Amino acid sequence: MNAKRRGSDPRDPCLFVGCGNIPTGRKPYCIEHLDRIPGAADLMREVERREAEIARAALGQWRHIDTAGSVAEEILDLLRAEGPLRVTTILSKIVFDVDGEEQRRTLVLGYCRALGLAVEAGRDDRGHRFEVVSPPVQERRAS
Ligand SMILES: [Zn+2]
Repeated sequence: MNAKRRGSDPRDPCLFVGCGNIPTGRKPYCIEHLDRIPGAADLMREVERREAEIARAALGQWRHIDTAGSVAEEILDLLRAEGPLRVTTILSKIVFDVDGEEQRRTLVLGYCRALGLAVEAGRDDRGHRFEVVSPPVQERRAS
């Protein structure tokens, strides 16, 4: 009953061998060794994989897109929640770390194409081009 549990004392040093830093907030590792937390390596690999996929999609390489990945899932979730959306609206709601308006447009259109989503092109009153993306078709059927 009285066994001392890890984390019960905020002054316990970092669990990394040879590190004497005191972690903040009762964490088992200090800020320098946070990547030792179980699952952290997987998380970082996922972030790297996602960034690489986004970079390829922005270059128009939409065949490299993982339609079951986290980016595709975010776009689908947004369309399911809000209905048909302009590409510019999608870009205002999901932030991609990609430079250039045209690259970001290519990125979203690439995901839409890979996901088989319907995209309709149009022009507004001032002649500006826009695209409207529809939610997944198979989910619109009546139950
Ligand atoms: Zn440490």
